[in-house]
Amino acid sequence: MRLILLGPPGAGKGTQAHRIVEKYGIPQLSTGDMLRAAVAAGTEVGKKAKAVMDAGNLVSDDIVIAIVSERIDQDDCSKGFILDGFPRTLVQADATEKMLAAKGLDISAVIEIRVDDAVLADRIAGRYTCATCGTGYHDENLKPAVEGVCDKCGGTTFKRRPDDNRETVRTRLQAYYKETSPLIGYYYAKGKLKGVDGMKDIDAVSADIEAILSTL
Ligand code: ADP
Ligand code: AMP
Repeated sequence: MRLILLGPPGAGKGTQAHRIVEKYGIPQLSTGDMLRAAVAAGTEVGKKAKAVMDAGNLVSDDIVIAIVSERIDQDDCSKGFILDGFPRTLVQADATEKMLAAKGLDISAVIEIRVDDAVLADRIAGRYTCATCGTGYHDENLKPAVEGVCDKCGGTTFKRRPDDNRETVRTRLQAYYKETSPLIGYYYAKGKLKGVDGMKDIDAVSADIEAILSTL
């Protein structure tokens, strides 16, 4: 199963990807996570990407296409993967088609998580993750069972992304509407697009996604 999760920043792509990983045992390929790892490691890619990411703009197609192309060649992707935050431009979508076609593969489905703009700033501003295992939480919508302790690994250190502030949300949304939303039509025309209502609570969105995955 090779899935694309599509939706604006804060829609719930990472949250739902983690659940699909647990259920289906296929890896989540988040270009945002990979770029943040490159920034943290101080690699050449990280140095180029940092300022662009902090401002909420898109990193160049060449960089992210190269990262994904290398990643999907790894063994753990042989049974499938979930692309989270990629492709984000038509150039990236075409590159994805080509890199999969070269292996005789195709995308199984594109799941668009639809969320009203009005809630995105609150979702982004309230987002934080466990610094040890990366499990995602939210100040209001998804708190750990014991305050300050990660449900999954028991870690007690949490972190927030530098770009998760109300100032960058506008830039990130503009990038989404200008560069990424054309992919909705692109995948609809290919008969791959499935939509879910991302305004529902997290469990309800997971159930709607599961209903789609069970038909693939
Ligand atoms: P994305 O990966 O699309 O940027 P995330 O999955 O990180 O978005 O979700 C952004 C924030 O919103 C997280 O803190 C998450 O806990 C919360 N969240 C995700 N889905 C929902 C939902 N359906 N309802 C309320 N909050 C949600
Ligand atoms: P995300 O974690 O998906 O919210 O991405 C965080 C930031 O990383 C984005 O605002 C972009 O600057 C960059 N980024 C992630 N994925 C891509 C992509 N596919 N194309 C371009 N930039 C990306």
